[in-house]
Formats: sequence, structure tokens, C-alpha cells
Amino acid sequence: MLSALPLPTATDATDRTAPRLLILYTGGTVGMAVNRHQELVPMHFDKLDRKMPELRQLPYRLELLALPQLIDSSNVTPADWLQLAWLIGQHYADFDGFVILHGTDTMAYSAAALSFLLEHLNKPVVFTGAQVPVGRTRSDATRNLLTALEIAAARHPRARTVRLPEVGVFFNDILIRGTRAKKVESQQFAAFKSENYPPLARAGINLDFNDKSIRLLPAARLRIHDRLEEKVAVLRLFPGITAAVVEAVLSVPGLRGCVLETYGSGNAPTAPWFLACLEKAQQRGVFILNVSQCEEGRVIQGRYETSARLSSLGVIGGDDITTEAAITKLMFVLGLGLSETQIRQQLSQDLRGEITL
Ligand code: ASP
Repeated sequence: MLSALPLPTATDATDRTAPRLLILYTGGTVGMAVNRHQELVPMHFDKLDRKMPELRQLPYRLELLALPQLIDSSNVTPADWLQLAWLIGQHYADFDGFVILHGTDTMAYSAAALSFLLEHLNKPVVFTGAQVPVGRTRSDATRNLLTALEIAAARHPRARTVRLPEVGVFFNDILIRGTRAKKVESQQFAAFKSENYPPLARAGINLDFNDKSIRLLPAARLRIHDRLEEKVAVLRLFPGITAAVVEAVLSVPGLRGCVLETYGSGNAPTAPWFLACLEKAQQRGVFILNVSQCEEGRVIQGRYETSARLSSLGVIGGDDITTEAAITKLMFVLGLGLSETQIRQQLSQDLRGEITL
């Protein structure tokens, strides 16, 4: 098993009252340096505390676990998500909270995937990263990591219960639910947006939690899921899309699920060839989840004539879900080995706060 490395902090490692936090380092800009071709590549930082001396002042017991294969998050795969979920399961009892250092490019997908894989999560799992690598002038790495750790250690002031029993993404100054995050910016520090849901916390001079938006579920034992269906696709509509393109995507051999990115409140062409393609896919057993290309609002199938036929063709309305959460939800639900009725039911239901019913 991969072993975690203790990081020196202001806290005596034997002080059992200090929160014990595990940092899982997967790669990403946060820890990148330039190679001889002047390209940014992930680097090992087992001496993280040397790069971020501020860590030494923290009142926490910190450990760092770097994955053997550090990656730019554009290379992340469902196998990585299963590994992260498994690692959290392995260390769940020993730590009060987890921070995952991850590249920003696919952080929203990974956070959504982990939200689905970790059922009945009752401890914080906070994703963070940086736009500028640690050690560089004006890097946002230390600031993001320090606040992510504070969030992972946070407890309700009076009851001392866990403040964030969810997967979240902390970036720049907002904490976003794992199933609601979207990367919206590649040049500025405010890289993420909380889509269709209020942020769970804001970090200014104080760290202000928005407690009423945080999910509080009845206590249950953590269940780590270990299967994701990879035979899924995303089909984004655009005016002028041809039958050949739609047909090519929907007839991929073995395809089990497809996110259909539609217009506005879930509208799509009414051209007979298009509806016929959907019908054929449906007959082949492909589950189609209707997600809007709009950043705010929701899918309401049947509101316009242009979405009325979708429901009768078996297309499932995705409500106000993001594409990132929709594709990972499809992978998760289709990996559960359920019947067709159960799959439809699960896809229409709110599983991890990804839709507002
Ligand atoms: N390409 C990088 C990654 O996602 C970008 C970043 O971390 O900001 O790994």
C-alpha cells in the first residue's frame, strides 16, 4: 500500500485533539515545473513543506500521499477516480478530512466522480489546485491549499460536528459542491464557478460557511463504489449538425449512455432524421440524458414543441445538472448493475446534490 508521509507542523504529532488531515497529491499545475523543452510537467514534492513553509505553522497533524504517477489532469481516467476513492476508503478511519491536490482542467469531473463513488460520505474531501505553480511569484497554490486544509479541518463551532460532510472544490475564494463545479477560466485566479447552486463557503478575511446549503445526511457507513461504466459519450448539438455525426456517436458499439447537450431548456431539432436516430439508440438500450448547454436554468422537457418528443422517445431530463456531473453520473449509475427501470429512476433522482428537484 502507498504510505503517507508526515509533514512537520506547529502541532505535536501525538496531540490527539489536533485535526488529522491527509493531502493526496495527484499532479496538476500546483506542483509543476518546466522541463528541458520549456513545457510544464508535474513534479514530485515530497518536501512540500519546503515549498510551502506556511504549512509548518498549521495547528493540524498533516500527512502527504503522492500518487506514484503524477499527472496533468487532462490525462485523468475513471481508473484514477476509482483509485482515489479506494485510497480515501483505506485511510478514512485515520483522518478527519482529505484534501486532493489536482490539476484544474478536469477537477470538476473528478470531484463529481468522487461524489458519486463515496456514498454516505461523512468527512470533508476537498479538491484544490492552482493556476500558477507553487514557488513561482504570485502563485495561488499556497493560498488555495491553506484554505482547503482549513475547510477540511472545520467543525461546527458549538456541536463540534463535521462542517462539510461532502466532496467540495475550493478555489480562489469559493467552496463549491463537487457535483456543481465548472472550470470557467484558464487565465485568471477565479477559475471555477458554482453552477445552479450557491457556494458552500466563501473565503475572505473570514471563512464563512453557508451551512444551510451543505448536505446533512443521516449517519450511515461509508460505501466505496468500485465500478464505473466507460461506454458513454457526450453529444453536443449545434445548428447544422448532420445525421452522420449524430448517428456515428449514438451507434458506437456497446454504447450504454450518452449526455445530449441541448439548447435552452432542453430543446433539440424536430427533424425526422434526428428523432429517428434517438429512437434507434433508445431501442439499442442507450440511455440518453438531456443536459442544457446553458450555464444556468434547467431542462424542462415538453415546455417547447422542440422538446416535447424527447420524453416519449425515452430521453431522460437532466434538470439543472452540469455536463461534468451528468457524464460521471451516467458512468456511476450504469456501473451499478441495475435494471432498466432502476437506471431510469436513479438518473432522474438527486443522488449527491447534483440536481435541484
Ligand atoms: N493542465 C493542468 C492540469 O489540469 C492545469 C492546471 O492544473 O491548472 O493538470
